[in-house]
Amino acid sequence: MLIAYDYRPETAAAAFLAKPQGLLIDGGRVASASGRMFKSLNPATEEVIASIAEGNEADVDRAVVSARRAFEGPWRTMRASERGQILQRWAGLLKQHADEIVELESLDAGKPIAAVLRQDLPAAIDTLTYYAGWADKISGDVVPVRDDALTYTVREPVGVVAAIVPWNFPLMIGMWKLAPALACGCTVVMKPAELTSLSALRIGELALEAGLPPGVFNIVTGPGRVVGDALVNHPDVDKVTFTGSPGVGRGIMKGASGNFKRVSLELGGKSANVIFADADLEAASKAAASGIFFNAGQVCSAGSRVLVQESAYDEVVERIAARARSLRIGDPLDRSTALGPVISEKQMKSILDYVDIGRQEGASLVTGGERVGKRGYFVSPTVFANVAHEMRISQEEIFGPVVSVIRFKDEADALRIANGTAYSLAAGIWSRDIGRLQRFAKKARAGTVWMNTYGYTDVRLPWGGERDSGLGREHGTAAIDNFTEPKAVWVNLNV
Ligand code: NAD
Repeated sequence: MLIAYDYRPETAAAAFLAKPQGLLIDGGRVASASGRMFKSLNPATEEVIASIAEGNEADVDRAVVSARRAFEGPWRTMRASERGQILQRWAGLLKQHADEIVELESLDAGKPIAAVLRQDLPAAIDTLTYYAGWADKISGDVVPVRDDALTYTVREPVGVVAAIVPWNFPLMIGMWKLAPALACGCTVVMKPAELTSLSALRIGELALEAGLPPGVFNIVTGPGRVVGDALVNHPDVDKVTFTGSPGVGRGIMKGASGNFKRVSLELGGKSANVIFADADLEAASKAAASGIFFNAGQVCSAGSRVLVQESAYDEVVERIAARARSLRIGDPLDRSTALGPVISEKQMKSILDYVDIGRQEGASLVTGGERVGKRGYFVSPTVFANVAHEMRISQEEIFGPVVSVIRFKDEADALRIANGTAYSLAAGIWSRDIGRLQRFAKKARAGTVWMNTYGYTDVRLPWGGERDSGLGREHGTAAIDNFTEPKAVWVNLNV
């Protein structure tokens, strides 16, 4: 789905950004209890672009009370088809306001606008449309047990959902949580990442315009340790759906145990993109480069380890490095920009620290490894060769445009290295041998396996991983299970 977009400097996004950004609670934009605000920066210019209300425990409580009321009231009791129609209307408004939304997302997250147009917004709209269609198709089963009873199941919404979202795909990942939760009849309190709260606030306004009753979708912006923590520990929240780092995910599991909230976690990755010598090396190298440099490497499923069979190793390293050198780095609002800044100064420093670690560990820096310019958090696309599996740059998630290229001998060696990290989100394999592709897919510890391609996701297919990559799956029917509880019903036929 391509969206027509014509960037004009004085757009609606500018008018939105000029307003102080309140929380969204009970159908209105409101000040935070403390009255405090925090600033949001454009990572490409380091300029302040918005002032956002800083929520705290009292705001979370207000939002949860409103979400509970909306759950017990209009949202749960509404006809399922009507819920679906409201979500469809909302999807229509997202299309109508596409240029404003993509501009906000690009300014706030430093994403190249061409990528937001190609992926983030179309994927968010597709997700919303897909789950809007599910709203009136969530059904139970009649399960025959005995002759004197009618026994059946129904699926009921789990209740009030806390949705905690990261900064790398604020709009798209936010919608991965919102759309299925709302379609199932749950109500939501969302906490966007403090670095990227703006697109959520704008689409929240559009949700109200689409007819979402007050309290069905609330947004409390502010720091994770305050707002996120208050949501995770709130006794009237029934479920937490989280995407972010494994460290925070661990804390969420502990916090949620207080009232045994349901939890789903989408965490990190150190995914292997495995290239055998018999593969189409041009196609594989091209996909390996985009698999790590897309969104400046800030992608949970980034192919941050490229494993290459010995005889093809030098050629593939050179092809990836050539692509890295040719990427156009610059203003995210310029449609020809391929690589924007990373999200923050802290993230930039952390990435550059990993470059130093890689050098000290003895890996060869083929290209990149530096800050680009003095303004904005730009990091050049970086390729490390001669990386050993045990090195930290091969084991730890860098979350930046840095790829570790590792040699392997044969199939067994490739599998050992591919499966040899704490993560298990995704893996790619490139070969012309169909048996090898299938053997690898069977044994790869990964929630998604790509064969002779890399990086595709679709809301119709399950998404997630195990161990440090998370718990449970999003998307498809898995998300319907996440946001509903099955109930068994017995009817005595003899009275
Ligand atoms: P993060 O864990 O720092 O933050 C994620 C969200 O959690 C933010 O909204 C943050 O404010 C909030 N948070 C922080 N501390 C909290 C606390 N104590 N309690 C509750 N909430 C808290 O992660 P990030 O830096 O925003 O995102 C990067 C990480 O996310 C990477 O590890 C990446 O791999 C992962 N990620 C995973 C997926 C996936 O689908 N598996 C997708 C995107 C990002």
